[in-house]
Amino acid sequence: TMTAKITLHKGDITTDAVDAIVNAANNSLLGGEGVDGAIHRAAGPELLAECRTLGGCETGDAKITKGYRLPAAHVIHTVGPVYRDGTHGEPELLASAYRRSVEVASANGCARMAFPAISAGVYGYPLDEVAKIALTTVDAALADHPEVVEARFWLFNDQVLGAFERALAGLGRHAHSASYQPG
Ligand code: ADP
Repeated sequence: TMTAKITLHKGDITTDAVDAIVNAANNSLLGGEGVDGAIHRAAGPELLAECRTLGGCETGDAKITKGYRLPAAHVIHTVGPVYRDGTHGEPELLASAYRRSVEVASANGCARMAFPAISAGVYGYPLDEVAKIALTTVDAALADHPEVVEARFWLFNDQVLGAFERALAGLGRHAHSASYQPG
């Protein structure tokens, strides 16, 4: 059964004052659309300056920076796969993005972390698949890294939230055991 350390929230991940929020970045780490753009706008230009020193990031890997003007102390930048047809390693790469993000949080003493729905926007990954892979992978990674005590999923609209609620219920935890922020 799923750990009680995972919760679902509706809204904007940039509002969360956890130890680390995860960014669904691209390989350049130099900013983009969607949640990436929102994180850079909220963090301020110092975030892009630090990202320029990182030399990009492979798909499925993750790198950490400070959070600058965000309420979160750190940003863990990960890169999910662009969805083609599901036969080009997409499930493994998406799982790797989630797992590496937990590993980087653990290695940097981040006890509480927050995730967006990686690859579910511009990168076109089917929502129900993202939800299943995200929840199963993070659940397993948290079990391997008990120093990470909480993973909060920020789902940006009702469609994404609904997919995660269904996936959570399908994995043996009822959606009502998750918590929500209004709005
Ligand atoms: P990708 O390129 O990995 O698909 P996107 O940023 O385009 O990343 O989309 C990933 C998910 O993040 C989508 O479900 C999108 O609606 C959502 N999203 C966009 N802005 C935010 C935000 N500020 N907070 C949380 N989620 C967001």
